[in-house]
Amino acid sequence: MMTEKKELYLGYSSDKAVTPFFQEFLEFLDQEKLMKSVCTQCGTEFLPPREHCQKCLSLCELKEFTEREAKLRSYVVVDFAPESLASKAPYVVAIGEFPSGLRLTAHITNLMSVPEVGMALKLAFDHIDEKKLTYKFLV
Ligand SMILES: [Zn+2]
Repeated sequence: MMTEKKELYLGYSSDKAVTPFFQEFLEFLDQEKLMKSVCTQCGTEFLPPREHCQKCLSLCELKEFTEREAKLRSYVVVDFAPESLASKAPYVVAIGEFPSGLRLTAHITNLMSVPEVGMALKLAFDHIDEKKLTYKFLV
């Protein structure tokens, strides 16, 4: 039996080509492992991972990102959502900063009050359905 290809779900449709590099990222995400990438030449780290270094254009390799606690750095409350997310509006898209300094943009899905910059966030994973994977922040 063929396993179905997984896709990253961030709330909007992504026409991102599924390169072998991105496919590998998705396979790890399916196991609830978030991968960063590290430049093989200059060591710069990227989250979410990039295949090529933004600084020196060298190849990057995937490494597991193990930090789970972040602080809310910035956020936006989306009242007027794209069609695919209209039923979820209003919702919060946040930039969380990890102790290493790496930042990640993701939804906060369990907020019960107005978010505050500096508040603690926890990285979590979600299988939206059999095919769609995502990562998110919880408070
Ligand atoms: Zn580099």
